[in-house]
Amino acid sequence: MRVQSINSYYNYNMNKPVRTVSVPAFKGIFDSYDSKAIEYFDYGLQALDENSLLIATPNREKTFFNLKQYKDKIDVPILKTYILDVTKDLDKDWGHSVSNGFAVFKKQNEYYILNLEHMGMHVYKGEYDPDTSILQSGEVRKLENGMRIDAFMAFGREPFLFKRPSEFNTRKAERFLSVQDTIDATAHNAVAISKITAPKTEGKTKSRIFTFADIGGLAHVIEDLRKFVIRPLAYPQVFENVRLNKGILLYGPPRCGKTLLGKALANEAGIDFKYMNANEFKSSHVGATEASIRDAFKELEGKPSILFIDEFDAIGKKRDGSSNARYDDATVNQLLGCMSDLEKSLTTSFVIAATNRKDLLDDALVASGRFGLQMEIPMPNENALEEIYKVHSKNQSFGEDVNIKEIVTAMLENKFNGSDVAEMFTIGFFNALERMGLNQKMDAKTFNYNDLKSIRVVKSDLFKAIKTITSQKI
Ligand code: ADP
Repeated sequence: MRVQSINSYYNYNMNKPVRTVSVPAFKGIFDSYDSKAIEYFDYGLQALDENSLLIATPNREKTFFNLKQYKDKIDVPILKTYILDVTKDLDKDWGHSVSNGFAVFKKQNEYYILNLEHMGMHVYKGEYDPDTSILQSGEVRKLENGMRIDAFMAFGREPFLFKRPSEFNTRKAERFLSVQDTIDATAHNAVAISKITAPKTEGKTKSRIFTFADIGGLAHVIEDLRKFVIRPLAYPQVFENVRLNKGILLYGPPRCGKTLLGKALANEAGIDFKYMNANEFKSSHVGATEASIRDAFKELEGKPSILFIDEFDAIGKKRDGSSNARYDDATVNQLLGCMSDLEKSLTTSFVIAATNRKDLLDDALVASGRFGLQMEIPMPNENALEEIYKVHSKNQSFGEDVNIKEIVTAMLENKFNGSDVAEMFTIGFFNALERMGLNQKMDAKTFNYNDLKSIRVVKSDLFKAIKTITSQKI
Protein backbone atom coordinates (compact mmCIF):
# COMPACT_ATOMS: atom_id res chain seq x y z
CA MET A 1 0.00 0.00 0.00
CA ARG A 2 2.79 2.30 0.91
CA VAL A 3 4.54 1.69 -2.42
CA GLN A 4 1.31 2.30 -4.25
CA SER A 5 1.09 5.70 -2.65
CA ILE A 6 4.58 6.59 -3.67
CA ASN A 7 3.98 5.47 -7.24
CA SER A 8 0.98 7.62 -7.43
CA TYR A 9 2.97 10.53 -6.14
CA TYR A 10 5.51 10.16 -8.90
CA ASN A 11 2.80 9.81 -11.51
CA TYR A 12 1.17 12.86 -10.15
CA ASN A 13 4.37 14.78 -10.65
CA MET A 14 5.23 13.20 -13.99
CA ASN A 15 5.35 16.48 -15.82
CA LYS A 16 7.84 18.03 -13.42
CA PRO A 17 11.37 18.47 -14.78
CA VAL A 18 13.92 16.07 -13.39
CA ARG A 19 16.85 17.68 -11.65
CA THR A 20 19.63 15.94 -9.88
CA VAL A 21 20.71 17.38 -6.62
CA SER A 22 23.27 15.82 -4.37
CA VAL A 23 21.97 14.57 -1.08
CA PRO A 24 23.31 16.64 1.79
CA ALA A 25 26.04 14.99 3.80
CA PHE A 26 24.10 15.27 7.02
CA LYS A 27 21.25 13.13 5.78
CA GLY A 28 21.80 10.62 8.54
CA ILE A 29 20.92 13.15 11.17
CA PHE A 30 17.66 13.93 9.52
CA ASP A 31 16.79 10.29 9.15
CA SER A 32 16.82 9.91 12.86
CA TYR A 33 15.07 13.22 13.25
CA ASP A 34 12.11 11.93 11.26
CA SER A 35 11.21 9.28 13.77
CA LYS A 36 11.31 11.97 16.42
CA ALA A 37 9.07 14.08 14.22
CA ILE A 38 6.43 11.35 14.33
CA GLU A 39 6.59 11.36 18.10
CA TYR A 40 6.63 15.15 18.34
CA PHE A 41 3.62 15.32 16.05
CA ASP A 42 1.61 13.51 18.74
CA TYR A 43 2.78 16.04 21.31
CA GLY A 44 1.58 18.80 19.02
CA LEU A 45 -1.83 17.15 18.68
CA GLN A 46 -2.11 16.85 22.45
CA ALA A 47 -1.54 20.57 22.81
CA LEU A 48 -4.14 21.68 20.28
CA ASP A 49 -7.14 23.59 21.45
CA GLU A 50 -9.53 25.64 19.38
CA ASN A 51 -7.19 28.62 19.36
CA SER A 52 -4.00 26.91 18.36
CA LEU A 53 -2.39 25.51 15.29
CA LEU A 54 0.10 22.75 14.66
CA ILE A 55 2.37 23.33 11.69
CA ALA A 56 4.69 20.72 10.24
CA THR A 57 7.18 22.39 7.97
CA PRO A 58 10.29 21.56 5.96
CA ASN A 59 10.83 25.28 5.30
CA ARG A 60 9.28 27.82 7.61
CA GLU A 61 9.50 30.74 5.28
CA LYS A 62 7.72 28.90 2.49
CA THR A 63 5.14 27.25 4.73
CA PHE A 64 4.21 30.49 6.46
CA PHE A 65 4.02 32.27 3.15
CA ASN A 66 1.56 29.64 1.92
CA LEU A 67 -0.31 29.83 5.19
CA LYS A 68 -1.04 33.46 4.42
CA GLN A 69 -2.52 32.44 1.08
CA TYR A 70 -4.81 29.97 2.72
CA LYS A 71 -5.50 31.77 5.98
CA ASP A 72 -9.22 31.92 5.28
CA LYS A 73 -9.39 28.13 5.31
CA ILE A 74 -8.71 28.14 9.04
CA ASP A 75 -11.88 29.54 10.47
CA VAL A 76 -10.98 29.45 14.12
CA PRO A 77 -9.04 32.25 15.77
CA ILE A 78 -5.43 31.23 16.22
CA LEU A 79 -3.42 32.66 19.07
CA LYS A 80 -0.70 30.07 19.43
CA THR A 81 1.21 28.04 16.88
CA TYR A 82 3.27 24.94 17.51
CA ILE A 83 5.89 24.43 14.86
CA LEU A 84 7.37 21.07 14.05
CA ASP A 85 10.37 21.24 11.74
CA VAL A 86 10.44 18.13 9.62
CA THR A 87 13.08 16.78 7.28
CA LYS A 88 14.88 19.38 5.26
CA ASP A 89 16.84 17.19 2.85
CA LEU A 90 16.19 17.28 -0.85
CA ASP A 91 14.88 14.53 -3.00
CA LYS A 92 17.79 13.57 -5.20
CA ASP A 93 15.73 13.02 -8.33
CA TRP A 94 13.28 15.84 -8.03
CA GLY A 95 15.31 18.54 -6.44
CA HIS A 96 12.65 19.68 -4.05
CA SER A 97 12.18 19.13 -0.41
CA VAL A 98 10.83 15.68 0.29
CA SER A 99 8.24 16.64 2.83
CA ASN A 100 5.12 18.72 2.75
CA GLY A 101 4.22 21.59 4.98
CA PHE A 102 0.79 21.26 6.51
CA ALA A 103 -1.31 22.59 9.35
CA VAL A 104 -3.64 20.85 11.78
CA PHE A 105 -6.29 22.76 13.68
CA LYS A 106 -9.16 21.89 15.94
CA LYS A 107 -12.72 23.05 15.55
CA GLN A 108 -15.74 21.92 17.54
CA ASN A 109 -13.77 19.01 18.86
CA GLU A 110 -12.80 17.76 15.41
CA TYR A 111 -9.34 17.96 13.87
CA TYR A 112 -8.67 19.25 10.38
CA ILE A 113 -5.65 19.21 8.15
CA LEU A 114 -4.73 21.88 5.62
CA ASN A 115 -2.14 21.24 2.94
CA LEU A 116 0.31 24.13 2.83
CA GLU A 117 2.40 22.98 -0.10
CA HIS A 118 1.96 23.89 -3.72
CA MET A 119 1.48 20.22 -4.56
CA GLY A 120 -0.73 17.45 -3.39
CA MET A 121 -0.04 15.20 -0.44
CA HIS A 122 -1.72 12.03 0.70
CA VAL A 123 -4.15 11.85 3.57
CA TYR A 124 -6.15 8.66 3.75
CA LYS A 125 -7.49 5.90 5.89
CA GLY A 126 -7.30 2.21 5.08
CA GLU A 127 -6.43 1.46 1.49
CA TYR A 128 -4.79 4.15 -0.55
CA ASP A 129 -7.15 5.36 -3.24
CA PRO A 130 -5.66 7.53 -6.00
CA ASP A 131 -8.95 9.41 -6.43
CA THR A 132 -9.68 10.37 -2.87
CA SER A 133 -6.39 10.18 -1.02
CA ILE A 134 -4.77 13.22 -2.51
CA LEU A 135 -5.18 16.37 -0.51
CA GLN A 136 -4.63 19.21 -2.91
CA SER A 137 -2.76 22.37 -2.17
CA GLY A 138 -4.87 24.57 0.10
CA GLU A 139 -7.43 21.84 0.68
CA VAL A 140 -8.82 21.09 4.13
CA ARG A 141 -9.87 17.61 5.26
CA LYS A 142 -11.37 16.36 8.48
CA LEU A 143 -9.02 13.94 10.20
CA GLU A 144 -10.35 10.58 11.30
CA ASN A 145 -8.71 8.36 13.81
CA GLY A 146 -6.09 6.18 12.13
CA MET A 147 -5.64 8.38 9.09
CA ARG A 148 -2.23 8.45 7.50
CA ILE A 149 -0.72 11.78 6.68
CA ASP A 150 1.85 11.08 4.06
CA ALA A 151 3.93 14.21 4.28
CA PHE A 152 7.22 12.52 3.50
CA MET A 153 7.27 12.04 -0.22
CA ALA A 154 10.10 9.58 -0.22
CA PHE A 155 10.62 5.86 0.10
CA GLY A 156 11.12 4.43 3.48
CA ARG A 157 9.69 7.29 5.47
CA GLU A 158 6.91 6.63 7.88
CA PRO A 159 3.81 8.74 7.36
CA PHE A 160 2.38 10.58 10.31
CA LEU A 161 -0.48 8.72 11.87
CA PHE A 162 -3.39 10.69 13.20
CA LYS A 163 -4.58 9.47 16.56
CA ARG A 164 -7.10 11.51 18.49
CA PRO A 165 -5.20 12.55 21.59
CA SER A 166 -6.60 11.05 24.76
CA GLU A 167 -5.59 14.04 26.84
CA PHE A 168 -5.01 17.74 26.50
CA ASN A 169 -1.42 18.45 27.43
CA THR A 170 0.75 21.30 26.28
CA ARG A 171 3.82 20.40 28.34
CA LYS A 172 5.59 18.20 25.83
CA ALA A 173 4.73 20.39 22.88
CA GLU A 174 6.09 23.42 24.70
CA ARG A 175 9.30 21.49 25.30
CA PHE A 176 9.94 19.79 21.98
CA LEU A 177 8.28 22.03 19.43
CA SER A 178 8.78 25.71 18.67
CA VAL A 179 5.99 27.86 19.95
CA GLN A 180 4.82 31.15 18.54
CA ASP A 181 2.65 32.80 21.09
CA THR A 182 1.17 35.62 19.15
CA ILE A 183 0.82 35.31 15.49
CA ASP A 184 1.26 38.47 13.50
CA ALA A 185 -2.37 39.38 13.17
CA THR A 186 -1.79 41.09 9.87
CA ALA A 187 -0.31 37.96 8.41
CA HIS A 188 -2.68 35.31 9.47
CA ASN A 189 -6.30 34.83 10.23
CA ALA A 190 -6.74 38.50 10.82
CA VAL A 191 -10.48 38.70 11.05
CA ALA A 192 -10.85 35.83 13.43
CA ILE A 193 -8.05 37.05 15.66
CA SER A 194 -9.30 40.56 15.92
CA LYS A 195 -12.67 39.14 16.89
CA ILE A 196 -11.34 37.76 20.10
CA THR A 197 -8.52 40.15 20.78
CA ALA A 198 -10.62 43.26 20.19
CA PRO A 199 -10.55 45.26 23.37
CA LYS A 200 -13.32 44.10 25.63
CA THR A 201 -15.44 46.90 26.91
CA GLU A 202 -15.90 46.12 30.53
CA GLY A 203 -19.38 46.56 31.84
CA LYS A 204 -20.51 47.89 28.49
CA THR A 205 -21.97 45.95 25.63
CA LYS A 206 -19.30 44.60 23.28
CA SER A 207 -18.86 46.75 20.20
CA ARG A 208 -19.76 45.11 16.94
CA ILE A 209 -17.10 43.94 14.56
CA PHE A 210 -17.64 45.24 11.05
CA THR A 211 -16.37 43.72 7.85
CA PHE A 212 -16.57 44.82 4.24
CA ALA A 213 -19.64 42.61 3.90
CA ASP A 214 -21.46 45.08 6.16
CA ILE A 215 -21.02 47.89 3.65
CA GLY A 216 -23.31 48.36 0.70
CA GLY A 217 -22.77 50.23 -2.54
CA LEU A 218 -19.11 51.08 -2.09
CA ALA A 219 -17.47 48.18 -3.92
CA HIS A 220 -15.07 50.42 -5.84
CA VAL A 221 -13.85 52.11 -2.66
CA ILE A 222 -13.44 48.74 -0.96
CA GLU A 223 -11.42 47.46 -3.90
CA ASP A 224 -9.13 50.49 -3.64
CA LEU A 225 -8.66 49.86 0.06
CA ARG A 226 -7.78 46.25 -0.65
CA LYS A 227 -5.29 47.38 -3.24
CA PHE A 228 -3.61 50.18 -1.32
CA VAL A 229 -3.92 48.99 2.26
CA ILE A 230 -4.90 45.35 2.80
CA ARG A 231 -2.57 43.67 0.33
CA PRO A 232 0.45 45.83 1.22
CA LEU A 233 -0.11 44.95 4.87
CA ALA A 234 -0.47 41.26 4.13
CA TYR A 235 2.48 41.07 1.76
CA PRO A 236 4.98 43.70 2.87
CA GLN A 237 7.78 42.05 0.91
CA VAL A 238 5.95 42.66 -2.38
CA PHE A 239 5.59 46.38 -1.72
CA GLU A 240 8.98 46.95 -0.11
CA ASN A 241 10.20 49.32 -2.79
CA VAL A 242 6.97 51.17 -3.37
CA ARG A 243 6.11 54.43 -1.67
CA LEU A 244 2.79 53.74 -0.01
CA ASN A 245 0.23 56.43 0.64
CA LYS A 246 -0.35 56.41 4.34
CA GLY A 247 -2.86 59.21 4.36
CA ILE A 248 -6.39 58.49 3.14
CA LEU A 249 -9.06 61.13 2.87
CA LEU A 250 -12.68 59.99 2.81
CA TYR A 251 -15.04 62.77 1.93
CA GLY A 252 -18.71 63.09 1.23
CA PRO A 253 -22.03 63.77 2.98
CA PRO A 254 -22.62 62.54 6.52
CA ARG A 255 -23.95 59.08 7.40
CA CYS A 256 -22.95 57.39 4.15
CA GLY A 257 -20.39 54.97 5.53
CA LYS A 258 -17.04 56.72 6.08
CA THR A 259 -16.60 55.62 9.67
CA LEU A 260 -18.01 52.22 8.86
CA LEU A 261 -15.38 51.83 6.13
CA GLY A 262 -12.58 52.77 8.53
CA LYS A 263 -13.72 50.24 11.13
CA ALA A 264 -14.19 47.48 8.59
CA LEU A 265 -10.82 48.20 7.01
CA ALA A 266 -9.02 47.90 10.34
CA ASN A 267 -10.79 44.67 11.04
CA GLU A 268 -10.19 43.17 7.61
CA ALA A 269 -6.53 44.14 7.81
CA GLY A 270 -6.29 42.80 11.35
CA ILE A 271 -4.69 45.93 12.74
CA ASP A 272 -5.54 48.29 15.57
CA PHE A 273 -8.11 50.99 14.98
CA LYS A 274 -8.37 54.18 16.91
CA TYR A 275 -11.28 56.52 16.32
CA MET A 276 -10.90 60.17 17.20
CA ASN A 277 -13.08 63.12 16.51
CA ALA A 278 -10.88 66.03 15.43
CA ASN A 279 -12.55 68.21 18.04
CA GLU A 280 -10.94 66.03 20.72
CA PHE A 281 -7.54 67.40 19.69
CA LYS A 282 -8.58 70.97 20.16
CA SER A 283 -7.50 72.86 23.19
CA SER A 284 -7.45 76.54 24.03
CA HIS A 285 -4.04 76.19 25.67
CA VAL A 286 -1.18 77.30 23.46
CA GLY A 287 0.53 74.34 21.87
CA ALA A 288 -1.76 71.75 23.45
CA THR A 289 -3.60 70.95 20.21
CA GLU A 290 -0.31 70.28 18.42
CA ALA A 291 0.90 68.16 21.32
CA SER A 292 -2.20 65.99 21.27
CA ILE A 293 -1.85 65.52 17.50
CA ARG A 294 1.78 64.45 18.02
CA ASP A 295 0.69 62.02 20.74
CA ALA A 296 -1.95 60.44 18.52
CA PHE A 297 0.53 59.98 15.69
CA LYS A 298 3.07 58.50 18.07
CA GLU A 299 0.71 55.62 18.67
CA LEU A 300 1.02 54.72 14.98
CA GLU A 301 4.68 53.87 15.46
CA GLY A 302 5.84 50.40 16.31
CA LYS A 303 2.93 48.36 15.06
CA PRO A 304 0.64 48.72 12.06
CA SER A 305 -2.51 50.58 12.99
CA ILE A 306 -5.13 52.97 11.72
CA LEU A 307 -5.90 56.36 13.20
CA PHE A 308 -9.32 57.50 12.03
CA ILE A 309 -9.89 61.23 12.43
CA ASP A 310 -13.53 62.16 11.98
CA GLU A 311 -14.62 65.73 11.19
CA PHE A 312 -11.10 66.35 10.02
CA ASP A 313 -11.96 69.87 8.91
CA ALA A 314 -12.04 70.87 12.59
CA ILE A 315 -8.23 70.71 12.63
CA GLY A 316 -7.38 70.74 8.93
CA LYS A 317 -9.04 74.02 7.95
CA LYS A 318 -7.38 76.33 5.45
CA ARG A 319 -4.63 78.50 6.84
CA ASP A 320 -5.42 82.05 5.92
CA GLY A 321 -2.32 83.63 7.40
CA SER A 322 -4.32 86.37 9.11
CA SER A 323 -3.42 87.07 12.72
CA ASN A 324 -6.50 85.53 14.26
CA ALA A 325 -5.90 82.32 12.33
CA ARG A 326 -2.45 81.78 13.82
CA TYR A 327 -3.83 79.03 15.97
CA ASP A 328 -5.07 77.09 12.93
CA ASP A 329 -1.78 77.65 11.11
CA ALA A 330 0.18 75.89 13.82
CA THR A 331 -2.27 72.99 13.84
CA VAL A 332 -2.11 72.43 10.11
CA ASN A 333 1.67 72.73 10.16
CA GLN A 334 1.83 70.12 12.89
CA LEU A 335 -0.42 67.81 10.88
CA LEU A 336 1.77 68.24 7.80
CA GLY A 337 4.87 67.46 9.85
CA CYS A 338 3.31 64.36 11.39
CA MET A 339 2.10 63.12 8.02
CA SER A 340 5.55 63.58 6.55
CA ASP A 341 7.10 61.58 9.41
CA LEU A 342 4.48 58.87 8.99
CA GLU A 343 5.30 58.61 5.31
CA LYS A 344 8.97 58.04 6.09
CA SER A 345 8.27 55.59 8.87
CA LEU A 346 8.92 51.91 8.24
CA THR A 347 5.73 50.93 10.03
CA THR A 348 2.78 50.45 7.73
CA SER A 349 0.28 52.58 9.64
CA PHE A 350 -2.42 54.73 8.13
CA VAL A 351 -4.30 57.88 8.94
CA ILE A 352 -7.81 58.03 7.62
CA ALA A 353 -9.29 61.49 7.69
CA ALA A 354 -13.02 61.86 7.15
CA THR A 355 -14.83 65.07 6.34
CA ASN A 356 -18.14 66.28 5.04
CA ARG A 357 -16.44 69.50 3.97
CA LYS A 358 -13.44 68.78 1.80
CA ASP A 359 -13.73 72.34 0.49
CA LEU A 360 -12.74 73.71 3.90
CA LEU A 361 -9.48 71.79 4.09
CA ASP A 362 -6.11 73.42 3.70
CA ASP A 363 -4.66 73.02 0.21
CA ALA A 364 -1.39 71.70 1.56
CA LEU A 365 -3.23 68.82 3.19
CA VAL A 366 -5.41 68.08 0.18
CA ALA A 367 -3.01 68.65 -2.66
CA SER A 368 0.48 68.02 -1.34
CA GLY A 369 0.21 64.27 -1.57
CA ARG A 370 0.09 64.00 2.21
CA PHE A 371 -3.35 62.50 1.71
CA GLY A 372 -2.51 60.87 -1.54
CA LEU A 373 -5.55 58.62 -1.52
CA GLN A 374 -8.78 60.52 -1.70
CA MET A 375 -12.02 58.68 -2.00
CA GLU A 376 -15.44 60.12 -2.35
CA ILE A 377 -18.20 58.46 -0.36
CA PRO A 378 -21.26 59.89 -2.06
CA MET A 379 -24.94 59.73 -1.29
CA PRO A 380 -26.08 56.28 -2.36
CA ASN A 381 -27.70 56.00 -5.77
CA GLU A 382 -30.39 53.45 -6.62
CA ASN A 383 -28.02 50.49 -6.89
CA ALA A 384 -26.18 51.43 -3.73
CA LEU A 385 -29.46 51.78 -1.83
CA GLU A 386 -30.43 48.31 -2.97
CA GLU A 387 -27.14 46.91 -1.72
CA ILE A 388 -27.37 48.73 1.60
CA TYR A 389 -30.93 47.41 1.87
CA LYS A 390 -29.61 43.88 1.46
CA VAL A 391 -26.92 44.39 4.10
CA HIS A 392 -29.35 45.63 6.71
CA SER A 393 -32.23 43.28 5.95
CA LYS A 394 -30.10 40.14 6.24
CA ASN A 395 -31.38 39.01 9.60
CA GLN A 396 -35.01 39.99 9.41
CA SER A 397 -38.03 38.08 8.14
CA PHE A 398 -40.32 39.84 5.76
CA GLY A 399 -43.87 39.49 4.58
CA GLU A 400 -44.48 38.45 1.00
CA ASP A 401 -45.75 41.89 0.05
CA VAL A 402 -42.32 43.46 0.58
CA ASN A 403 -40.82 44.36 -2.77
CA ILE A 404 -37.26 45.56 -2.63
CA LYS A 405 -37.49 47.66 -5.82
CA GLU A 406 -40.51 49.49 -4.54
CA ILE A 407 -38.83 50.30 -1.23
CA VAL A 408 -35.62 51.38 -2.96
CA THR A 409 -37.58 53.79 -5.16
CA ALA A 410 -39.21 55.31 -2.09
CA MET A 411 -35.84 55.58 -0.35
CA LEU A 412 -34.31 57.29 -3.37
CA GLU A 413 -37.19 59.78 -3.59
CA ASN A 414 -36.69 60.64 0.06
CA LYS A 415 -32.90 61.07 -0.31
CA PHE A 416 -31.99 58.31 2.09
CA ASN A 417 -28.39 57.96 3.21
CA GLY A 418 -26.90 54.67 4.46
CA SER A 419 -27.83 55.38 8.03
CA ASP A 420 -31.47 56.06 7.08
CA VAL A 421 -31.66 52.62 5.49
CA ALA A 422 -30.45 50.98 8.69
CA GLU A 423 -32.87 53.06 10.70
CA MET A 424 -35.76 52.09 8.41
CA PHE A 425 -35.32 48.43 9.31
CA THR A 426 -35.13 49.19 13.01
CA ILE A 427 -38.25 51.34 13.01
CA GLY A 428 -39.96 48.90 10.63
CA PHE A 429 -39.32 46.07 13.07
CA PHE A 430 -40.84 48.01 15.96
CA ASN A 431 -43.81 48.83 13.74
CA ALA A 432 -44.26 45.10 13.12
CA LEU A 433 -44.19 44.29 16.84
CA GLU A 434 -46.84 46.90 17.44
CA ARG A 435 -49.03 45.82 14.54
CA MET A 436 -48.90 42.19 15.66
CA GLY A 437 -49.80 43.04 19.26
CA LEU A 438 -46.57 41.51 20.48
CA ASN A 439 -45.69 44.38 22.81
CA GLN A 440 -48.67 43.54 24.99
CA LYS A 441 -47.69 39.87 24.97
CA MET A 442 -44.18 40.74 26.13
CA ASP A 443 -45.58 42.94 28.91
CA ALA A 444 -47.94 40.17 29.99
CA LYS A 445 -45.06 37.67 29.76
CA THR A 446 -47.09 35.47 27.45
CA PHE A 447 -44.68 36.01 24.56
CA ASN A 448 -43.44 32.61 23.44
CA TYR A 449 -41.18 30.95 20.89
CA ASN A 450 -43.94 30.77 18.28
CA ASP A 451 -44.45 34.49 18.61
CA LEU A 452 -40.77 35.03 18.04
CA LYS A 453 -40.85 32.91 14.90
CA SER A 454 -43.99 34.65 13.65
CA ILE A 455 -42.48 38.14 13.42
CA ARG A 456 -42.65 39.44 9.86
CA VAL A 457 -41.95 42.97 8.74
CA VAL A 458 -44.46 43.83 6.04
CA LYS A 459 -44.66 46.53 3.41
CA SER A 460 -46.78 48.88 5.50
CA ASP A 461 -44.30 48.63 8.42
CA LEU A 462 -41.49 49.77 6.15
CA PHE A 463 -43.43 52.55 4.45
CA LYS A 464 -44.50 53.85 7.84
CA ALA A 465 -40.84 53.85 8.85
CA ILE A 466 -39.86 55.74 5.69
CA LYS A 467 -42.45 58.34 6.56
CA THR A 468 -41.15 58.69 10.12
CA ILE A 469 -37.55 59.11 8.96
CA THR A 470 -38.47 61.56 6.24
CA SER A 471 -40.51 63.70 8.60
CA GLN A 472 -37.58 63.81 11.02
CA LYS A 473 -35.30 65.05 8.26
CA ILE A 474 -37.35 68.13 7.54
P1 ADP B 1 -20.19 58.67 8.16
O1 ADP B 1 -18.93 58.31 8.84
O2 ADP B 1 -20.06 58.80 6.67
O3 ADP B 1 -20.87 59.87 8.77
P2 ADP B 1 -21.17 56.20 9.24
O4 ADP B 1 -20.17 55.27 8.70
O5 ADP B 1 -20.99 56.64 10.66
O6 ADP B 1 -21.24 57.50 8.32
O7 ADP B 1 -22.62 55.58 9.02
C1 ADP B 1 -23.55 55.47 10.07
C2 ADP B 1 -24.29 54.16 10.01
O8 ADP B 1 -25.12 54.11 8.86
C3 ADP B 1 -23.41 52.96 9.88
O9 ADP B 1 -22.96 52.49 11.11
C4 ADP B 1 -24.30 51.96 9.14
O10 ADP B 1 -25.20 51.32 10.03
C5 ADP B 1 -25.12 52.84 8.24
N1 ADP B 1 -24.48 52.99 6.91
C6 ADP B 1 -24.00 54.13 6.36
N2 ADP B 1 -23.52 53.91 5.12
C7 ADP B 1 -23.66 52.61 4.89
C8 ADP B 1 -23.33 51.76 3.78
N3 ADP B 1 -22.76 52.24 2.67
N4 ADP B 1 -23.61 50.44 3.88
C9 ADP B 1 -24.19 49.92 4.99
N5 ADP B 1 -24.53 50.69 6.05
C10 ADP B 1 -24.28 52.01 6.01
